Amino acid sequence: MIVALAGGVGGAKLAVGLAAVLPPEQLTIVVNTGDDFEHMGFTICPDLDTVMYTLAHANNTKTGWGRAGEGWRFMQEMRRLGGPDWFQLGDRDLAVHVLRREALARGQALSQVTRDLCGRFGIRHTIVPMSDTPVRTRVKTAAGELAFQDYFVRLRCAPRVSGFRFAGARTARVPPALARVMRGRVDAVVLCPSNPYVSIAPIAGVPAIGAWLRQRKFPVIAVSPIIGGAAVKGPAAKMMRELGVKPDALSVARHYGAAVDCWVIDEQDDALGGAIERLGKRVVIARTLMKNRRLSTALARRVVRAARQKKSE
Ligand code: GDP
Repeated sequence: MIVALAGGVGGAKLAVGLAAVLPPEQLTIVVNTGDDFEHMGFTICPDLDTVMYTLAHANNTKTGWGRAGEGWRFMQEMRRLGGPDWFQLGDRDLAVHVLRREALARGQALSQVTRDLCGRFGIRHTIVPMSDTPVRTRVKTAAGELAFQDYFVRLRCAPRVSGFRFAGARTARVPPALARVMRGRVDAVVLCPSNPYVSIAPIAGVPAIGAWLRQRKFPVIAVSPIIGGAAVKGPAAKMMRELGVKPDALSVARHYGAAVDCWVIDEQDDALGGAIERLGKRVVIARTLMKNRRLSTALARRVVRAARQKKSE
């Protein structure tokens, strides 16, 4: 069993590759729910939906979020009626939010709802939220503490960040399906190239998951989300600069420290390999920019190979 920890876009791109090279019973994808929020009566789960749409081959590859072939009549009408329009909800996407709200209102846990939705999309691999109870990322900024989507979407990541807080993490409830995987045999954990502060940290911030990662008997393989000193998408590099670290693959390796055994870094960052090795890590140099599914699959193959080598060492 390989357990992959994923945020949204970067996470989903590697997850779809892993799903192409591993059978369903050998892969569990644990997804960040710190970005989730309540909006117009819906519980919106951006990272879960990005991973789900990507695995279902139903994602919008241009925007990096939402559905392919999306329609916007609902949003247009919302705007015309003077309703909230700062968060885009496409017509197809809306169907998922309605189904999720309905199931949550019936008392289903988020993990059950996710399983059901994945089934409807024909996904055979397991996608599981990190928690069945709400965990909400709060961003500490010069403008005060902000809810994650306020920072991310409404303010377009403009405020300068000084730290993060994961409200609800202490009492977070790990979904039963994930608890079972954590108790069973795990061959490796893969940290997808997701934002270290707001995608991976909230997952590791769930106490039971954090403890499981610290007491691990399996190797942890990570793919750097920073390529050539920049983030492919999103605020990761900006956050690093604001937190006083140079945005590069070496800083990311230092940030994770002992939590990671093997680093997969991009060909462009070849020159940083030696310094990461001196931290006591194994380093794999690969093409890590996943512009399409073929590249996602090729990278996933490298990651799985590295996991198997590390395990047999
Ligand atoms: P979010 O929740 O949608 O922001 O998604 P993630 O946290 O999963 O992804 C954001 C991170 O993924 C950013 O730091 C990006 O640099 C990284 N990323 C996105 N696409 C790629 C890619 O193709 N390769 C690598 N190595 N990183 C990527």
